[in-house]
Amino acid sequence: MKKIIVTGAQGQIGSELITKLRSEYGTDNVLATDIREASTEAAQAGPYEILDVTDAKSMHALAKDFGADTMMHMAALLSAKAEESPLLAWNLNMGGLMNALEVSRELNMQFFTPSSIGAFGPTTPKNETPQETLQRPTTMYGVNKVAGELLCDYYFTKFGLDTRGVRFPGLISNVAKPGGGTTDYAVDIYYKALEEGKYKSYIAEGTYMDMMYMPDALQAIVDLLEADPAKLIHRNAFNVTAMSFEPAEIAASIKNHLPKFEMSYDVDPIRQEIADSWPDSIDPSAAVAEWGFKAKYDLDAMTIDMLDKLKVKLKI
Ligand code: NAD
Repeated sequence: MKKIIVTGAQGQIGSELITKLRSEYGTDNVLATDIREASTEAAQAGPYEILDVTDAKSMHALAKDFGADTMMHMAALLSAKAEESPLLAWNLNMGGLMNALEVSRELNMQFFTPSSIGAFGPTTPKNETPQETLQRPTTMYGVNKVAGELLCDYYFTKFGLDTRGVRFPGLISNVAKPGGGTTDYAVDIYYKALEEGKYKSYIAEGTYMDMMYMPDALQAIVDLLEADPAKLIHRNAFNVTAMSFEPAEIAASIKNHLPKFEMSYDVDPIRQEIADSWPDSIDPSAAVAEWGFKAKYDLDAMTIDMLDKLKVKLKI
């Protein structure tokens, strides 16, 4: 049985990941950590400690005392926030990752961290973006993610650390709100559709980006953690995706269930520029071939589930 430490465990992914990991590996075998006090039901449901990932000593001590054999590193500053505070992004995204890799090396732990479609840039092939391709991102987040992908590869080849990771697309979920990424509109739209019947998109019509529903993202993480290492050619930064859509298409999917829903546009130039620099669709075939990646939810299945779950959550 694994003993897992999770950083950034109260974020959009972490807050659901800890529940998933606790159901797979046992509540007491998953230590959730974040820089913030435990405020969610999920965080309070099992072992929890405050941890600032820029503090390597505390990270080492917590992982060692817990007897962790697996590190799931989720703490980061996301794309839109990183453009507002590039220096903070560098220090958190690179400093935190370096500490997590070093602690994992020192304690001989398995290591997982997500990269992102943000690791691609405007000169990357836009459609069916291959696993291995040109990566010249133009955002601080992208610079961090490319460096992070390379660092994870380096720790595997140099030290034999069992590093694993995916390049997530925009993730859509109904538990924790997203933390300041470029694809957040695809979550906000469901809340606003139910609460107000309308939504103003900060991403322009016609802007395609890859997306995935959180249950598929969580399953992908567990599947990659459990994958036979002999079959992994890439290990880190596997392209994974479930769908690619533009704002008008998600609006149409919602309108099928809420006919009065209306969408308008008020484009935010900063997030639009980031979105324009990312692929329209990526090719997950390496993940499919090497560890059987599979997503269950397409746009319509996700819309039905999101609306059902949010109606309960928002008491509508
Ligand atoms: P998030 O912004 O929702 O959560 C990040 C968490 O990190 C927060 O709970 C925050 O309190 C915590 N944190 C911030 N500074 C910290 C510090 N110094 N020490 C410890 N914790 C700190 O992020 P997320 O969406 O859950 O993303 C997790 C990972 O997945 C990141 O690496 C992100 O780049 C990647 N990713 C996310 C998406 C997505 O759509 N959510 C897509 C692609 C990749």
